[in-house]
Amino acid sequence: MATTHEKLAVLGGAPVRQRPWPTWPRADENTERNLLEVLYSGRWAVSGMYNGTPLYERHFAEAFAAYNGVPYCVPVTNGAAALTIALQALGVGYGKEVLVPGVTWVACASAVIRAGGIPVLVDVEPDTLCLSAEAAQEAITERTAAIMLVHLYCTIGDIDAFLQLSNETGVPLLEDCSQAHGAVWSGQRVGSYGKIGVFSMQDTKLLTSGEGGAAITSDTELYNILQQMRADGRRYKASSPPLHHIELEEIGEVQGWNYNLSEFQAAVLLDRLQHLDAENELRTQNAAYLTELLADVGAIVPLARHPKADTIAYYQFCARLDPSEFGNLDIETLCRALTAEIGVVVEPIHRPLNNNILYNPLLSPQAQPEVLERLNPKQFSLPNSTHALGCYFRIPHRVLLAARHDMEDIAAAFLKVKENHRQLIQAM
Ligand SMILES: *Cc1c(COP(=O)(O)O)cnc(C)c1O
Repeated sequence: MATTHEKLAVLGGAPVRQRPWPTWPRADENTERNLLEVLYSGRWAVSGMYNGTPLYERHFAEAFAAYNGVPYCVPVTNGAAALTIALQALGVGYGKEVLVPGVTWVACASAVIRAGGIPVLVDVEPDTLCLSAEAAQEAITERTAAIMLVHLYCTIGDIDAFLQLSNETGVPLLEDCSQAHGAVWSGQRVGSYGKIGVFSMQDTKLLTSGEGGAAITSDTELYNILQQMRADGRRYKASSPPLHHIELEEIGEVQGWNYNLSEFQAAVLLDRLQHLDAENELRTQNAAYLTELLADVGAIVPLARHPKADTIAYYQFCARLDPSEFGNLDIETLCRALTAEIGVVVEPIHRPLNNNILYNPLLSPQAQPEVLERLNPKQFSLPNSTHALGCYFRIPHRVLLAARHDMEDIAAAFLKVKENHRQLIQAM
């Protein structure tokens, strides 16, 4: 790779790349056809009146369950709702504890609060940034009601170790696959190993309807509870009702909520699911090439991948850089410089939840005097998470949907910033 001695784009120089990257989310005539069909169908919601045609929502649930190799799927309004009903179905309630990784999106912890429980923040592995099974084992108490394993960015947590821990302790495993649609561990899709697997279909995710989510399970009783949790205590009738009657029956075995996905969203998801495997494959090939190129740049190492991780889903290309090779500049400055070179936001990882502006359990209705101390995020020590914040960066997956040679622009940007980091120091 040629060396560059040029002015950095963040300081007013010409950027490495000016051409646009692929956009996300995606749609085509089939997505449009599905949406228009819903628009004029006379029914926009699960709770609307039966019009003689099957719901997109049920069709998507069947397709997504089959895709993941499980019998059941309950679509919901968003990933946080999927987490909330999954936690409640697993018995999380007032005062019960849930192990949550120190690095993840805030919804993982706030969903526990919403379910009435207490998040126990547990450190991550330094090389995968996924929940550490050893740290989780140490954090388990008689109050632990669930373990939340999140498959983060572009890797899979150590599912085998967590299944073993779950078997030994009787604490159920919940997999959050919101960043891992389609990933495969040891021949089986992620989300199918835990008692429940949850997904987000938010705008940036690998399968999306703008907002959306789902919970999958192989357990018939959990399916029954999940259904009621997301539809105000109702579930589908065993057979279709007469025309213009509601398709749900009132059961009331739980306190439910309305987390129903609309027909518009389900229609989009059903269509886009057909593209997931091909898009994952393209991202994987481009990520492999980018990894090679970054190895040539030097001092950049992607997230580690367990030998049992057969297929990785690239939600974000996440890798660690050696700050000493980049003038010991802080990761935010480097990310800004890289962003300016490639025209796509390069950013540090999520801020650890013991020091994250979005995570405020003490401001929630759960913050009652007797649990204040246990809710306080500052009490948790997360050394690996904190260290990772200073050296890992991530790039959104849409760049991996470009052509193979486009990866060379990303590598060139890293090389340019690495070789010209003194410009950043001088500009400070
Ligand atoms: C996006 C995400 C969520 C939350 O999903 P929403 O649909 O935004 O509610 C939860 N967990 C993880 C790991 C996520 O990435």
